[in-house]
Amino acid sequence: MYTPRMLQQSLIEALERVADGQVIAPGADEYDEARRTFNALVDRRPAVIVQPRSAAGISAVVKLAAEADLPIAVRGGGHSAAGHSMGDGALVVDLRLMRNVEVDVQRRSVRAEGGTLWLDVDPATVAHGLATPGGTFADTGVGGLALGGGIGHLVGTCGLTCDNLLAAELVTADGRPIRVDAEHEPDLLWGLRGGGGNFGIVTAFEFQLHDVSSLLGGHLVYPHATAGSVLRRALQVMEDAPPELVLMPLLSRLQSAIIITVCYRGDPAIGERLLKPLRNELQPTEDSVRPCSYLDMQATNGLLQFGLRNYWKGHFVREIPEAVLDATIDDYVAGRLLGSVLIEPIAGVARREPRGGAAFGQRDAHYNVSALAIWEDPGEDSSRIAWARSYASSLEPVSVSGGGYLNYSTEETGERILAAFGDEKFSRLVGLKSKWDPDNRFRFNHNIPPSPAGRAQG
Ligand SMILES: Cc1cc2nc3c(=O)[nH]c(=O)nc-3n(C[C@H](O)[C@H](O)[C@H](O)COP(=O)(O)OP(=O)(O)OC[C@H]3O[C@@H](n4cnc5c(N)ncnc54)[C@H](O)[C@@H]3O)c2cc1C
Repeated sequence: MYTPRMLQQSLIEALERVADGQVIAPGADEYDEARRTFNALVDRRPAVIVQPRSAAGISAVVKLAAEADLPIAVRGGGHSAAGHSMGDGALVVDLRLMRNVEVDVQRRSVRAEGGTLWLDVDPATVAHGLATPGGTFADTGVGGLALGGGIGHLVGTCGLTCDNLLAAELVTADGRPIRVDAEHEPDLLWGLRGGGGNFGIVTAFEFQLHDVSSLLGGHLVYPHATAGSVLRRALQVMEDAPPELVLMPLLSRLQSAIIITVCYRGDPAIGERLLKPLRNELQPTEDSVRPCSYLDMQATNGLLQFGLRNYWKGHFVREIPEAVLDATIDDYVAGRLLGSVLIEPIAGVARREPRGGAAFGQRDAHYNVSALAIWEDPGEDSSRIAWARSYASSLEPVSVSGGGYLNYSTEETGERILAAFGDEKFSRLVGLKSKWDPDNRFRFNHNIPPSPAGRAQG
């Protein structure tokens, strides 16, 4: 008779034969480092971590996981605040060895393997004066960010990352490699544009590229005590701005300053004119805004280290009501915010669906407002988490749908996941999930549950 340990051993041997890469079992020297995620609140122990080098390896691994009836977690860049790249008892397909990038200048597209980070993709495309809109931190994974939306410095003129997804090479829950694009499984392409890692493992993404040869960008930094006038003026400028100008104000607890990240895509002289109110009427203590390359822009925020404790929660809103603004500013100035508050615009092209549509469901919003609690001391866990939850609750009355940005959420209820998409999109996603992953093999994500009927057919 096989004991669980013998079963585990035979699975690991089988994985080693087919994975075309590393297999890391509990007890191995590399195990603890491999299971580490961005968020130190997350401490999960997978059954095994596999790091394949090819789509064929992934295919074989997924087939073995199905035979062993193991759930699969997928690690792209390991940055999800919810720690979705690791699952207790899961087989983790860790894509960190698959980071190849190829640019097709003629077609203005880039093919990026499933484990690439933005710092792999951006230099390759910028060499041709081109970029696809990513996030605002270079070391986040392309995979999770693109599949869940993607809000970055080019959001106004290029849309969300997921809107620029042209095609995906995907390994399905039964281990089949398929191509997904406007001609092949267009419904699934729609689902991958915002529906997260619910439908399979993307071994390579193909994105649309845009000209980024002319940018103005950097930080405007203001003293903590001037939060009221700065935030109000910044919101006015954002309201009136053309889509080329993207401002992201952060009431930073870590730096104890208001930091506005600025990106203008176009003639820098026009950008400079649009910024006058923020430079002339208010006095920034630091002003690094200048004509820059897209790589400079992507380096503006630096990197946020792995290993801190993070609890993030927010809402998409059309406006930030005076009462919320007043309370935010008062609490910030008095040092009562136990985290930072980030405001990102949903503007211009991002408010329209791309050709073929997208599952991402917050096009009516004007802002994504997020409470970002980030700390080190485990003794502060409950107060920091309570603060982020209560700040998010204060936005609930003006939330566009009752849901927040899933890519930022540390934890979500089924209700808020549904709200993030709305009823119609959610039921279309359930249909896709039931077709492509009826057993919910890919469940370490903001999960779309397969319908029981889909499961029976599967
Ligand atoms: C410091 C920091 C900065 C951030 N900045 C931004 C920002 O500016 N804009 C923004 O929109 N978001 C931002 N985010 C949020 C970011 O979009 C999410 O954390 C996202 O999940 C990161 O992707 P990842 O591949 O690193 O995540 P992982 O933790 O590896 O994965 C997250 C989810 O995506 C799935 N997944 C990842 N890759 C694949 C793949 N190839 N195939 C199938 N499923 C896959 C995983 O299964 C998992 O469910 C930031 C996060 C952090 C921590």
